[in-house]
Amino acid sequence: MPTRFHADTVLPCDPAFAVHRPGVVDVDDDGRLAWVGPAAEAPPSEAAVVRLRGLLMPGLVNTHCHSPMALLRGAGEDLPLLRWLQEVIWPREAGLTPEDVYWGMTLAAAELLRGGVTTSVEMYFHSEAIIDAVRDAGSRAVVTPTVMEAPGMEHMGPWSAQLEEHLALAAARQDPTGRIEVGIAAHGAYTLPLEALRAIGAAAAEHDLLAHIHVAESRGEAAELEAAEGKSVPAILADLGFLDAPRVLTAHAVWLADDDLERYATHDVAVAHCPQSNTKLASGIARVADMLERGITVSLATDGPASNNNLDLWEEIRLAPLLQRVATGDATAVPAATALSLPTAGGAAAIGRDDLGVLEAGRRADLVHVDTDDLAFTPVTADADVVAHLLWSAGREHVRDVWVGGRQVVADGVCTTVDVGRARAEVTQRARRLAAQA
Ligand SMILES: [Zn+2]
Repeated sequence: MPTRFHADTVLPCDPAFAVHRPGVVDVDDDGRLAWVGPAAEAPPSEAAVVRLRGLLMPGLVNTHCHSPMALLRGAGEDLPLLRWLQEVIWPREAGLTPEDVYWGMTLAAAELLRGGVTTSVEMYFHSEAIIDAVRDAGSRAVVTPTVMEAPGMEHMGPWSAQLEEHLALAAARQDPTGRIEVGIAAHGAYTLPLEALRAIGAAAAEHDLLAHIHVAESRGEAAELEAAEGKSVPAILADLGFLDAPRVLTAHAVWLADDDLERYATHDVAVAHCPQSNTKLASGIARVADMLERGITVSLATDGPASNNNLDLWEEIRLAPLLQRVATGDATAVPAATALSLPTAGGAAAIGRDDLGVLEAGRRADLVHVDTDDLAFTPVTADADVVAHLLWSAGREHVRDVWVGGRQVVADGVCTTVDVGRARAEVTQRARRLAAQA
């Protein structure tokens, strides 16, 4: 059924950052947007009309997630990174079954949807279970099965076998409706041999897969490799041809020198900026203002729930400009429209999906209804006030309804596609088992 949404405010998050008050969004029965604009200019329509008090905007895109780590949320807090991985996380992950991952992803999908995140980019293991969970939860994801070699992870087998398996999955499980896309991930340059990085980059190019990788998260993490090669990780990736893949998404990208930023701009490498994870783990502040100035595509991400710890992208939307302002001493750094473009248009661009991230005709009807009937949204005297309140005063608690491809998945603040009670019970029971086994 085609639907006409009539909202007090429609914020398409388009390049001009238009604000339509009131606005109309028409959705076709194929789950795509048919028309978006000011209500006064809306074309005649026979569609059923849904009237919304508040604001309608694109579904958010969380571009770097290890969502099934919801199973490990809270485990081993306040340890240094390496001890946390070696003593707490890897022993638990060694005991993960596909069913564990299914339920971790299911709980996370409900949390993401409830917070207005309609698309997540997933980097984890047991990708079939992740795909099944996303399919069942009604969310949208780019699942990037991860190639990784690290001490304690020998059970995953050699990188070449992992890559072969992941490529078979990518061939088998692409969803023609665009709801579930399969890409490929290299865990990181310092956790894989160089020939693995070369092969993953080449495979991504050959099969047009999103190539996802951690880069420069913490200072010195790849010091040994960089000393041996005599160049930075981005330079290594460029020389291996990894950055020539058509869509490269790098998570964190905190410690980039000027020539690395140039490399990013030249090769059109996108960034998944994870400000809260980077502050919590004392990783540093990515040079987002410098990236944007150079035209680099920047998106926002929560990182996994074992390191952040919730999947609330609204916190990232606000923290990103806050950190840039305190780091640069410039109160005009990352203005409101730019900040709100990062998880919407920026997220879609970062994953090379021109069907998401902006409300415009032809794109998919991934919609978030924000309830602005709240003290924090008062007063509104001009269009700019709506944008300012959304950035500086809103949170995921204001997300009221969510649609993915025109299908409603959150109604009045409740995720209607997931049995949340069962998901909580499954995750709790499985997390206890994993902790006891570790
Ligand atoms: Zn990560």
